Amino acid sequence: MGKSSKDKRDAYYRLAKEQGWRARSAFKLLQLDEEFNLFENVTRVVDLCAAPGSWSQVLSRVLIKGETFGRRAWQDREAKLRQKMLNVFGTSAQTDDATGNQPTRAVVTEPKPRSDVKIVAIDLQPISPLPGIITLRADITHPATVPLLLKALDPDYDPSNHSQQAAQPVDLVISDGAPDVTGLHDLDIYVQSQLLFAALNLALCVLKPGGKFVAKIFRGRNVDLLYTQLKIFFDKVYVAKPRSSRASSVEAFIVCIDFRPPKGFHASLEEPLGVGNRLPEMLAERNAELPITAAPERLQDEITGAWNVAPIKPQNGPDSDGICDIEVEDLTTDPSEDIRWIAPFVACGDLSAFDSDASYKLPDDHVSLDPIQPPTAPPYKRAIELRRANGGAYKKIASSTKS
Ligand code: SAM
Repeated sequence: MGKSSKDKRDAYYRLAKEQGWRARSAFKLLQLDEEFNLFENVTRVVDLCAAPGSWSQVLSRVLIKGETFGRRAWQDREAKLRQKMLNVFGTSAQTDDATGNQPTRAVVTEPKPRSDVKIVAIDLQPISPLPGIITLRADITHPATVPLLLKALDPDYDPSNHSQQAAQPVDLVISDGAPDVTGLHDLDIYVQSQLLFAALNLALCVLKPGGKFVAKIFRGRNVDLLYTQLKIFFDKVYVAKPRSSRASSVEAFIVCIDFRPPKGFHASLEEPLGVGNRLPEMLAERNAELPITAAPERLQDEITGAWNVAPIKPQNGPDSDGICDIEVEDLTTDPSEDIRWIAPFVACGDLSAFDSDASYKLPDDHVSLDPIQPPTAPPYKRAIELRRANGGAYKKIASSTKS
């Protein structure tokens, strides 16, 4: 597929190049922010799986430069126009709307560049420099990445002091992590869930109470178990689908608001969640607070590795010996007894925004632009070099079929 046909088929791909974003994913973050006010009162952010860097660009332009985009930009422009009209015509001559009310002063948000913002971006791939962003090349699944991140956030951090937490914790952790998709659905969902656990474990190490966590998920079977687990740590958990994310894709984003770790919880990548019994025990503890009458049984999903807790109920009250017979509910046969929790689904982005699954007719004089930032060291780089050295794949196939 050529650049031009992709321009036509994917409006966000074209727009990203026109507006200077390194990837079309920038619109996903902007649309998530429009819906959830992600950047409100945010000063310190960690961007996981950040290459080529369009989410970091959004962070840099919104938080450091104070720019506004999308619906917010329209509101700003409209406010500026109203202000101009008021200046020209004065308040007494004009009425505000059909009700005939006098106009109120428009609130104009001028870009306010900030110097107190700290943003750290991490990826396996190198990220080309971006204004105001600290970039790290590291694997988010590796325990050695935590001290690297803590040091980047706080230069006084001492990696030899294992008990030390981030001195100035983070307000927002975002992760757009995706493995190289194999096309084997269950395998892709499994690898994605492992990346998500890695992102969550890192987030738990650095988030401050009240902080937010946003991460890409693939909505597979049993994704509701994940929502239940996230509810242990966050007051509000949503599953969101920005308009720029193709409806045909299983991709969505979990938006977790108001970080409230359970009492006594200590985050550590030495003992990460998703491995061992820590998470199921916390789920069990949390469920003990729910109106369930006996200790729960743990069940682990064989695909995602996520844990579920089946409620156990006393059967027919105590026996003659005073002991309750208990019945373990089988989730596979009676899902109505399941304590899984379904996160509210939120579609974000204006309905007037481009539809990412539609094709748009381009003007006749349309010129297709080059990508803003081609990947620096993609896994397929070597294959492309070899193909070029051999005069192209087709030539090679053609010559091999001749002989
Ligand atoms: N948000 C990015 C942007 O806006 O430009 C796009 C991210 S891209 C969809 C997914 C990224 O996840 C890739 O750059 C990949 O290198 C990264 N990734 C995958 N596994 C990772 C890991 N274990 N540690 C760090 N990064 C990882």
